[in-house]
Amino acid sequence: MCENEVKVEGMEEVAEVVYEDITLTCRDCGQEFVFTAGEQAFYAEKGFKNQPKCCKACRDKKKNAERGERQYFIATCSECGGEAKLTFQPSSDRPVYCSKCFEARRSAQ
Ligand SMILES: [Zn+2]
Ligand SMILES: [Zn+2]
Repeated sequence: MCENEVKVEGMEEVAEVVYEDITLTCRDCGQEFVFTAGEQAFYAEKGFKNQPKCCKACRDKKKNAERGERQYFIATCSECGGEAKLTFQPSSDRPVYCSKCFEARRSAQ
């Protein structure tokens, strides 16, 4: 009787993994962060074997860096006194120009 209701060991285990929130420490900033049950399920679904090494803030930061967001240096334009965004560290003995003045100078030559 009721033979169909006999649980098959092993199969059930795979189907019913119960996730619990776990606290991990971020490798980058050392802050603790929660790897939630939902995220664990998501990782398992995607087939990721590893737990995240960084907190969300650091992961987002990295994502932005991968997207090629450059670091800019803000200096004062020697021509118009406006804000000049530089992709390099400005040196004090060389004039810097904002993109507008830079373009103007280039086309004037
Ligand atoms: Zn972090
Ligand atoms: Zn300028």
